[in-house]
Amino acid sequence: MTGKKVLIVGGVAGGASAATRLRRLDEMAEIVLFERGGHVSFANCGLPYFIGETIKDRSKLLVATPELLAGRFGIDVRIRSEVIAIDTTRNVVKVNSDARGTYEETYDELILSPGAKPIRPNWSGVNDARVMTLRNIPDMDKIKDAVDGGAIQRVVVIGGGYIGIEMAENLLDRGLNVTVIEAGKHILSPFDDDMAPWIEKEVRAKLPSLVTGQKVLELNANDTAIEIVLDSGERIHAELIVLAIGVSPDTEFLVDSGITLGSRGHIIVNEKMNTSVTNVYAVGDAVEVTHFVNGQKATIPLAGPANKQGRIAADQIAGIDTGYSGTQGTAIIKWFEWTAACTGMNERTLKQLGVPYKVVHVHPQSHASYYPGASQITLKVIFDPQSGRILGAQGFGKDGVDKRLDVIATVIRLRGTVNDLVDLELCYAPPFSSAKDPVNMAGMVAENIMEGLSDVVTALEWLEAAPEATSDIQLVDVRTPAEHAQGNIPGSVNIPVDQLRTRLSELDSGKPVWVYCRVGYRGYTAARILLQHGFGEVKNLTGGYLSYAALI
Ligand code: FAD
Repeated sequence: MTGKKVLIVGGVAGGASAATRLRRLDEMAEIVLFERGGHVSFANCGLPYFIGETIKDRSKLLVATPELLAGRFGIDVRIRSEVIAIDTTRNVVKVNSDARGTYEETYDELILSPGAKPIRPNWSGVNDARVMTLRNIPDMDKIKDAVDGGAIQRVVVIGGGYIGIEMAENLLDRGLNVTVIEAGKHILSPFDDDMAPWIEKEVRAKLPSLVTGQKVLELNANDTAIEIVLDSGERIHAELIVLAIGVSPDTEFLVDSGITLGSRGHIIVNEKMNTSVTNVYAVGDAVEVTHFVNGQKATIPLAGPANKQGRIAADQIAGIDTGYSGTQGTAIIKWFEWTAACTGMNERTLKQLGVPYKVVHVHPQSHASYYPGASQITLKVIFDPQSGRILGAQGFGKDGVDKRLDVIATVIRLRGTVNDLVDLELCYAPPFSSAKDPVNMAGMVAENIMEGLSDVVTALEWLEAAPEATSDIQLVDVRTPAEHAQGNIPGSVNIPVDQLRTRLSELDSGKPVWVYCRVGYRGYTAARILLQHGFGEVKNLTGGYLSYAALI
């Protein structure tokens, strides 16, 4: 036990975790926690669901009160106390507080967990009171009060990230007329261009007014509504705007502190959560992290990493030498009955970085298809073609997406390979999964590629290559004639897999062949037949026609 005086700035995810962990490790430490707002340790992630009234009891969002932190943990909690400057040469913080005015407090050790604040661009009209953001309980109360007031019919959510989409769902739950405007090509940017359309299709089913690929230029407020002007010239009107275009680190108070900040204001830390200044630690959304998969610097604002980093900072102060091994960006979102989840790196980033990778798509059922209630999962796994190491995964479906992504996230964390996905022995009885779990299936498809048994082309690659425009590649649909008639890829001939051996003469073994079926399974069988009959270059459309059709 140290008996040190430890100050903590920020009393929510990272700050409260650090404070309580430190107390459990060190009964003698003097712990003072400064929080600018009126609440500590509240459930940021639950805020949209209180607005939507799925969570009905507001007090349930207050995970720990100042009284509990003081009573059970002996923490001196000072709410409505903003740290406005830090003098790291004198080990002193300057505090602006409602109760005590401006004063200084000395420290032996300092932990910073100030989080990140919603970005407010400098559009004209953006400071109108009806343009709201969501970070904390007062923000939530303001939005909910506005909705409860009954004068609002139209809400525009600007930003189709996690918070924007969660807000849209909850505002729809309140019976409002909701529009989401996203500047990017697709909503939910962590998902690749071949996964986002799956999600977007379901979002549009409930939210036909979803706008993608358009930027907001300005807001014109009048007495009754706000007009949102888009770069297309389109104008949309709403009584309430929820601005959710991302966050930036809340670190202005550190600018003159001597603590090194990155180009966008993130606090630079090492794996022990030390900043550039001795005895000062930083954690949470405000810090730059190392990406677990590629080892590069990244900023990934998520609750799990903030909590873990808070624990590590407390360990370090208490003399326990733990460290942070990086963030891999595991995240999940609900859209009514649907779930989308991802982990690790996406294909877009790997391409930008020039990292070699291979992709497989599978569409298995969430559990044995003969047991009632099974539904399709769309799963994408990205891996290193040399080592088989898993680089990332994304999933979408109604049921069981979370557990599949959690399993793959775990394998990534253990630096596992596609062979490990095959080997995993996972829970199975018909109501829960299949004897080959979707995770095993994705591993097997990837392992086949690693072993040189088959090669694949993705739907995105197929669309980009537009092979139908040349006669260089033979395109073969190996589904049944009935399936072919219902929709097929331009330029493809229909040779059902069951007839392939007797109709090989219809194809030229000297030319490349791309085959496809519905999900990729019959296509793989067809590819194996062709390869074993002397065809030199055969590719199977991974994820099959389902993956292709989702993109057109
Ligand atoms: P915060 O939890 O934001 O805490 C920082 C605190 O520091 C704030 O209360 C702030 O008032 C205080 N502070 C800042 N500067 C000062 C100062 N100078 N002096 C005193 N106090 C200061 N993540 C997920 O993983 N899953 C989710 O589903 C999810 N949903 C979210 C939904 C919403 C609406 C929001 C806003 C966030 C969500 N997040 C989610 C993100 C998650 O909440 C954050 O990653 C996490 O809270 C970060 O913890 P932190 O301690 O760094 O910052």
